[in-house]
Amino acid sequence: MPESPNALKSSVNSELATLTLAAARNAVASGTTTATALAESYYQRIAAADPEVHSYLALTQDRALAQAAKVDAAVKAGEPFGPLAGVPIGIKDVLTLKGAPATAASKILKGYHPPYDATAVAKLEAAGAVLLGKLNCDEFAMGSSNENSAYGPVHNPRALDRVPGGSSGGSAAAVAAGLCTASLGTDTGGSIRQPAAFCGVVGVLPTYGRVSRYGLIAFASSLDRIGPFTHTVQDAATLLEVLAGPDEMDATSSTQPVASYTADLAKPVAGLRIGVPEEYFGEGLDPEIRAAIEKSLDALKAAGCTIHKVSLPHTRYAVPTYYVIATAEASSNLSRFDGVRFGHRSADSDTLANMYRKSRDEGFGPEVKRRILLGTYVLSAGYYDAYYKKAQQVRTLLTRDFLTAFTQVDALVCPVTPTPAFKLGEKTDDPLQMYLEDIYSVAASLAGICGMSVPCGTTQAGLPIGVQVLGKHFDESTMLRIGAAIESAQPR
Ligand code: GLN
Repeated sequence: MPESPNALKSSVNSELATLTLAAARNAVASGTTTATALAESYYQRIAAADPEVHSYLALTQDRALAQAAKVDAAVKAGEPFGPLAGVPIGIKDVLTLKGAPATAASKILKGYHPPYDATAVAKLEAAGAVLLGKLNCDEFAMGSSNENSAYGPVHNPRALDRVPGGSSGGSAAAVAAGLCTASLGTDTGGSIRQPAAFCGVVGVLPTYGRVSRYGLIAFASSLDRIGPFTHTVQDAATLLEVLAGPDEMDATSSTQPVASYTADLAKPVAGLRIGVPEEYFGEGLDPEIRAAIEKSLDALKAAGCTIHKVSLPHTRYAVPTYYVIATAEASSNLSRFDGVRFGHRSADSDTLANMYRKSRDEGFGPEVKRRILLGTYVLSAGYYDAYYKKAQQVRTLLTRDFLTAFTQVDALVCPVTPTPAFKLGEKTDDPLQMYLEDIYSVAASLAGICGMSVPCGTTQAGLPIGVQVLGKHFDESTMLRIGAAIESAQPR
């Protein structure tokens, strides 16, 4: 496979570059290495390579090494240890980790140290994972390139002059660069799938409600979801099994039983009906991406799946619908940042109203402000029916499109993005161009179904290509099996 001449070339602990979760866990469990030694070698690699990638905003060494020592003691004593024993994991900086900074890549949260752990984070640790630090992202997860971080952009390790995608750019880049074995990101309109595609790693968007969001700094609450980034589909299944399930701290988490995703991977894909939505293959799709998706479909066919054309007729309304609903919810969620309770407070303000105004003006970046303005506008009296209510109605139509398709097929296969990773700075002057990046990802977000991005090749220039698999609500098992079948057809 071609590699970009601008790919990251760190030789420090370079065996970590492709170390899978399964291999890391086995090495710790069998005593080949210790959790402590593994964590330390990741920190060395981070020190050497992350200045070029800029994926971490904060390292949590003390907590990581204390946890690693605990895992090592359990292994040594022959006591039970979890399915993630000693596995080094990075966390997107929109999730809380007790005592560590949580900035959401915004200046307004500078200095905020949450007093509790997010449920997803606590579950990883309870399963034995070692949490290395907090990962860079777009400010409040708003963006498609990670260029909206108040702390500087992330560089794509596969081509350092290009964006890693967003908003979970740090989470995707850190796995791709071998700066953690796996990571957590969030996806509101594509923020796991798109950066996974740009960086050549696996990214999974679980069904809405599948993973608790307690401890997630909210962007758009009817859309936000937490999910894993990994090197392999099997690793993603392992993580999802740990993360999934109800949580009394999150009323939107679902009580649907959690399937055994790892065991289900062994089931054959033969006989599955794969839908190919025609609206996802129109004008503007990069020909190299189209060819790679077609190759993945051929591989599924060879594995015994049947391929069917389907239609999702309202697809062209997905981007405008998303940018009405997501901004409306963001304007409401972000009203809590006013300089009083969290983070930044303006130093020079005479009245309370000015303190609110100045703290928000100094604390929020331009994209966040744009969204608050848009969201406030679409919710305001006189415009509510024309924009917000209309968008909710269209959201129902978009959801019905998927439900209808799923009466004919078991899952859908389509592109994640219209283009491979673009150059840093290429789209920053044109928000609309940036929003169009989300053309293939936001409909699934609005519908609440599960999705994933699986690496399926590279362009001639050496840029990764991802293929999107979309599954029925709570049918992550089928989606992951299809992802694994596509993965196993890739040259190693
Ligand atoms: N790119 C989309 C946006 O800017 C999606 C972001 C996300 O999923 N968090 O809103």
